[in-house]
Amino acid sequence: MAMDIDINELMYQKCPYDEDQAILLVDLETESAPATDEAGNLQYYCLAGKHVFSIDEDGEAV
Ligand SMILES: [Zn+2]
Repeated sequence: MAMDIDINELMYQKCPYDEDQAILLVDLETESAPATDEAGNLQYYCLAGKHVFSIDEDGEAV
């Protein structure tokens, strides 16, 4: 199954609130597909603030 997105490039984001590193949340059931919120946005876990936020298809935090 081909993937449309490069997981490695999407693995890290800078948290817009803490200006620190956040890592992509992975769906624990498949251990491969990224976790998404109800709108289909990728979700990240902020290591500094210990919170989850979403990035929409434009790369903006939502
Ligand atoms: Zn944060």
